[in-house]
Amino acid sequence: MLISQFQAVGRDLCARGLVSSHSGNLSIKLGERLCITHRGSMLSCLEEHDLVETGINKNDRFTPLASTELAVHRAIYKRTPASAIVHAHPAYAIALSFTEQEIIPCDVEGNLLLSKVPVLGWGTTIKPGEFAKEIADELTRHKIVLVYGHGSFAAAQLLEEAYQYTSALEESCRLLYLLKTLQIKTR
Ligand SMILES: [Zn+2]
Repeated sequence: MLISQFQAVGRDLCARGLVSSHSGNLSIKLGERLCITHRGSMLSCLEEHDLVETGINKNDRFTPLASTELAVHRAIYKRTPASAIVHAHPAYAIALSFTEQEIIPCDVEGNLLLSKVPVLGWGTTIKPGEFAKEIADELTRHKIVLVYGHGSFAAAQLLEEAYQYTSALEESCRLLYLLKTLQIKTR
């Protein structure tokens, strides 16, 4: 069932502190349409009414109910072969977005899985829904990207996979942060 995939990933994102109570959003592609979390929904306790189905190319009466990041999700589905997207606010990754222009994981898992994660919009303030084209373009080359001072967008075939990239990025960034604190050079 569709809702159970959203619930499992939403709950885990919250449990791991990768989103705050009302932040983050998830979607999956359904042909010419997408199913996305409702604007302002709580990922920790998603129900059927928290999911909104609307067009990827066309607006309908449900469009205004969708997450404020709808434009970014639409652009990613138009530009890449992805079928699922996770947007989160992982704290260590966001912290490093202020100091790094790209994240190169130095742990084995992060390095094998992600190899390199670009930080987009460096030095600028990007509001929700903005920078859609740039994010989608980078996701043709990377599994996950970071938006400066904001959060991550991961694109994959399955929601769980996009969640895995998000969780791996945060773990790598936590480690990079610890190594920086200890003043251990990673490259
Ligand atoms: Zn956000």
